[in-house]
Amino acid sequence: MPTSDPGTADCIFCAIVRGDAPATFVHQDDLVVAFLDIRPVQPGHLLVVPRVHAQLLPELEHRVLGRLWSVAIALDTVLRKSALPVEAVSVYVADGEAAGQEVAHVHIHLIPRRPHDGFGFRFPPGYGRQPQRAELETIAEGIRPQVAALKTLQVSGD
Ligand code: AMP
Ligand code: ZN
Repeated sequence: MPTSDPGTADCIFCAIVRGDAPATFVHQDDLVVAFLDIRPVQPGHLLVVPRVHAQLLPELEHRVLGRLWSVAIALDTVLRKSALPVEAVSVYVADGEAAGQEVAHVHIHLIPRRPHDGFGFRFPPGYGRQPQRAELETIAEGIRPQVAALKTLQVSGD
């Protein structure tokens, strides 16, 4: 479960949410804040952050998750309409340390993009090989039981 306010003592994003550390905000509401990344990949690089402390997306309550993504998508639109040179936006979450998460408080990156701007993902050796359909099915079989068990993915009428 997420830790309730006032957040964890050693978390920089909790300190920003509390007002104990500086940030350049572009949005603040009762559940979510958004501010400029201090080491931007591109000018206008934003972080959208829940006020409540949680390391991973699945730890957040649905109403917080909903607001987090609504604000992120609204700010995606804002960036495209801004005076900044934005042709596209990379929307990115490192959801856990092995995924490259450095700050252990959920945050969505919104990174303004232009063609040939030098930013991108590195792919592992062997990437590009297209598996046989049977291999994809075997992998899906390892996932589907958990999907079926997850009430939040059940759509009424199904
Ligand atoms: P991640 O690797 O996804 O955890 O990204 C963490 C991001 O937080 C990095 O892009 C950092 O530049 C950014 N960051 C770290 N500390 C601060 C801070 N005090 N204010 C704004 N951005 C920060
Ligand atoms: Zn925190």
